[in-house]
Amino acid sequence: MLTKEEIRASYKNFDDNKILKLAQNPKGLTKEAIPALIEEVRLRNLDTSFIEWIQLENNPLNQLEKDSIFSNIKNSKCSICKTNSDLKAYEFHSVISGVIFCDDTLQHLIICEKCNKKIRWKNFFNTILLGWWSRKGFIATITALLTEFFNLFLVKRINDRILNTLIEENNGTFRKILSSENPKQQIQNFIENNNVRNLNKNEYE
Ligand SMILES: [Zn+2]
Repeated sequence: MLTKEEIRASYKNFDDNKILKLAQNPKGLTKEAIPALIEEVRLRNLDTSFIEWIQLENNPLNQLEKDSIFSNIKNSKCSICKTNSDLKAYEFHSVISGVIFCDDTLQHLIICEKCNKKIRWKNFFNTILLGWWSRKGFIATITALLTEFFNLFLVKRINDRILNTLIEENNGTFRKILSSENPKQQIQNFIENNNVRNLNKNEYE
């Protein structure tokens, strides 16, 4: 493990771009690296909002804060039907393939149960009809259908896994949301953007 001085010395050699890149994505820095990075941002007169961001990202949410986010997510309004709440995070696996292409898609959507059923049926029929038409697609289709089948029994576990990962990956953002004036609305917006991002995804990642 590098000492504080060694980290400082290596940051000094980074150009501004590299320092900014690190400051934009500072998750997982060691406790020795955080003050060294903040110092570099300050010394170089780079955008000081990064200093706050580095601190937000590296201040993990406690269980109480996570529970508050979970309950806000659950009580948000579904961004697809704009009506129901009691949201959960669902996983959708679908395949569309042709002779030379194969779109194997994994989506995570935070939506109501009714919309979940609608999308699941639509995906199921699409995969059954359009999944098989290539060698790769054939195997991917079988995997997708089996995963979909077993996932029916694991709704709570999948919900917990997706939400925990989402919160972990967006620690700084959620910390900012929790200290904002209207966390409920902000969480609603976050879910909506996250759903849009996932709906636009069409390759397995
Ligand atoms: Zn809905």
